[in-house]
This record gives sequence, structure tokens and C-alpha cells, in this order.
Amino acid sequence: MKLLRYGPQGEEKPGLLDTEGRIRDLSGVVADITGATLADATLARLRALDPQTLPLVPGEPRLGPCVGQVGKFVCIGLNYADHAAESGLPVPPEPVVFNKWTSAITGPNDGIEIPRGSEKTDWEVELGVVIGRAAKYVDAADALNYVAGYCVINDVSERAWQIERAGQWDKGKGFDTFGPLGPWLVTRDAVADPQNLNLWLEVDGHRYQNGNTKTMVFGVAQLVAYLSQCMSLQPGDVISTGTPPGVGMGAKPRPVFLRPGQTVRLGIDGLGEQRQITRAA
Ligand code: ZN
Repeated sequence: MKLLRYGPQGEEKPGLLDTEGRIRDLSGVVADITGATLADATLARLRALDPQTLPLVPGEPRLGPCVGQVGKFVCIGLNYADHAAESGLPVPPEPVVFNKWTSAITGPNDGIEIPRGSEKTDWEVELGVVIGRAAKYVDAADALNYVAGYCVINDVSERAWQIERAGQWDKGKGFDTFGPLGPWLVTRDAVADPQNLNLWLEVDGHRYQNGNTKTMVFGVAQLVAYLSQCMSLQPGDVISTGTPPGVGMGAKPRPVFLRPGQTVRLGIDGLGEQRQITRAA
């Protein structure tokens, strides 16, 4: 099942993508797609609906972030061995954890704002995990039962603020528009194996990133279990699980970064695509 949110920013309505790729309005069934609607019982109720009975949404409305009211936006760094190598950093013995501010969250196609003065705005296609059930001290063997579904995330990153300006990576990760989520939340029953998904990213038609989640250092189940040892995960929390190689910072012979007016496209098998045009803040 593919759940989404559509409409103007801040006024998004819940929707469902039917098998023909058309948006069906869910606002007569649930108020929104948020942590409150991601419990297994609610998802089962939505799955039981016949999409043909739901109102068809005309045209091509804007898509909002595929989950609303995100409480925490937790990210994992250096979670692909080959990306750690291109960053010149060792594979970490335990997950590297950092945050994106929730104010960075945008719709999948809303565009990326290049921060004022930035010369090092970079891209990172990532598998997003949306929590469906409160998780505290869970085991890896049970951890996927706490996942509502998956989505595409671009972990947009300003490298100077992240790396060169002292202290936490968070400074370079949380600018407005640096967290596009979507186009849809694909429920976990519809993702056969989260550890075998191709993911890719292009800038102006040039393919920079090509990877597969099977080369993650710590898989989704391990990450959910690990994070649940140092925080309680709540329904609607989002985890971005790290990026495969091919970020601009690691480009050869020299780094490549985003400028205003470029087009970024990214996608993951079965989870859809995002498209962002960059603009000056
Ligand atoms: Zn990342």
C-alpha cells in the first residue's frame, strides 16, 4: 500500500495511490498520515478498503512529505562501507547517529534551497524508515515489526557547515528543504526485503549515485534495535539509513556541489522518485 499526502503546504490531505497510479482521497477515512494513523490496526483497515470506492483526486496536485507531524528525524552516517571510503573515514564500529531538524522536511518535489553563502551543498539518496509503533529496548529479530513502512529521502547536506565549522554534523544537515520525504510511504508488507533495494541519484541527468541497500553496514532491523537502546522511537519518527557512494564531496577528480537552477532526481526500487530544482535561499 502506498500512502501519501497531497495539497498545498501545511494543508495536506491524506491519500492513497491506487494500482493505476492515481491518487485516491483518504480524508473521509483518516485525518492525516501521521504517527497516529500508522498503527498496524489502522493500516489493516486502510488496506481493506477498495480504492475504487474512494474519491479520485483530479489533476496532479503537489505532494507533501509522505508523513506529517514527524517527531524525530534521526539519521545514520557512514552506513555504507564504500561511502565511508569515499569520505576518507573508517567504517564505524557502531552506528553514527545525527539529527535533521524537522523544519527541514519538505515534499519530494518542492525543491532545494541552497543556503546563503553555501558552496558545498551536496546530495545523499537514502532509504527512509517510518516508525509505526513505539519502540524501546527492542531486539533486532523483532525490530521490523515496529516499522510502518519505507520512503525515499534526500539527506541534503551542506558540507562546510557539516565538517569544517566545528562540532556536530547537525549544523550542515538541517537547513530548510534539506529533508524531502516521499513521494509515498510504502507499507512494510509491500517491501519484500528492505536489504535488497537499488537506489540512485542524478544531477542534471548525470548519474552520480548507484547503490543497493544490501551493502549497508547496519541493516534496518539492527538500526531500529540500536536506536531503541538510546531513545524511545515513536510512531511517525523517521530514520534515514545512510547513503551509498557517489556524493558530490567524493567526486573525482574534484568534488562537485549543487548550484541554483539544477535538477536533482533520485529514487529507490518500488518506493518511487523525487525531483528537486535547486534555488538560492
Ligand atoms: Zn546521509
